[in-house]
Amino acid sequence: DVMVTLDNVVKSFERNTVVKNISMDIKKGEFLTLLGPSGCGKTTTLRMIAGFEQPTDGDVLIDGKKVSGIPPHKRDVNTVFQSYALFPHMNVYDNVSFGLKMKKVRKEEIKRRVMEALQLVQLETFAERKPDQLSGGQKQRVAIARALVNSPKVLLLDEPLGALDLKLRKQMQVELKHLQQQLGITFIYVTHDQEEALTMSDRIAVMNNGIIEQLGTPDEIYERPASRFVADFIGETNLFEGTVMEINNSHAYLEFSGHKIPVVQTAPLSLNHQVAMAIRPERIKLHIEPNREGFAIPGKIVEHIYVGSIIKTVVSLPGENQVTVNTMPEVAHSFAVGQDVFVSWEPDKAVVIT
Ligand code: ADP
Ligand code: MG
Repeated sequence: DVMVTLDNVVKSFERNTVVKNISMDIKKGEFLTLLGPSGCGKTTTLRMIAGFEQPTDGDVLIDGKKVSGIPPHKRDVNTVFQSYALFPHMNVYDNVSFGLKMKKVRKEEIKRRVMEALQLVQLETFAERKPDQLSGGQKQRVAIARALVNSPKVLLLDEPLGALDLKLRKQMQVELKHLQQQLGITFIYVTHDQEEALTMSDRIAVMNNGIIEQLGTPDEIYERPASRFVADFIGETNLFEGTVMEINNSHAYLEFSGHKIPVVQTAPLSLNHQVAMAIRPERIKLHIEPNREGFAIPGKIVEHIYVGSIIKTVVSLPGENQVTVNTMPEVAHSFAVGQDVFVSWEPDKAVVIT
């Protein structure tokens, strides 16, 4: 059940190719996020789905039909922008009803649909207010109501919460996710904020430099990053360079900091090749004694950084390497700065990136 297809989509502005060749299917009712740093091509991709830009090559399909040449207002999609784009001289009701009026929908029908849309965003008592009498969060809710009022099949949202402060943004993330689940509309959401993407999405397309580096569920993206870029961009990670020194069946061994470290082989590896290994700070264990069962790398506690519910403990390892280990306060307190320790992790928690 596919709602939107990008089929080898390319976009160039003169000589500059900013979307390099993107293919993906976005499912009906899915919350799909395009995540990546500023300038990687997220907005351009969204604008091609909306119809504000034409692809230089390739096709966009909405609900199974090619949409090339179809103008934005004739596509079954609506867009919510970060800037709200409300008419300042019109009240909330008129802002939300504007599109329906242009389409000459009957007055009673307009009223019913506008009030329904305002109810969805909990603004039914604000219909008479002008935009300058609303907070940032309320303005963004009006913009969302306006985008929902003609029941689009797809809602496109371009960094819609970017202008809000952190607390309100977190609250709106949850509200928007609930709204999407309630309506069952396909949402295509753009953000550069990885935490926002992990919180809200069914799937995330991680973009970099005009390509999709990885497409997967938040869990897949976080636990099995497919590239150095993804490992580094999503969450915090320790990245090491190592050499493949032994391969047998499911396990391989890397030489790292003079130690032989087991890793799970998720992609084909070749002997003596340099690879990177990504390991999340919460997956690393600290011990006083070497680990009898598996490997353990000796190190020294450099510092404890307090970040609230957890503590980030920095440990120096042989060969000028460092790891950051997320610890619970009671664990961190049992290791003094300067103390000799051992670090280890479950082999299947280390992701090898070739
Ligand atoms: P993002 O939304 O990920 O920050 P954009 O899609 O807005 O990225 O932009 C990707 C690249 O395309 C940027 O380098 C930007 O300068 C360029 N770009 C976007 N729109 C135009 C345009 N109309 N003309 C020329 N270059 C553009
Ligand atoms: Mg953008």
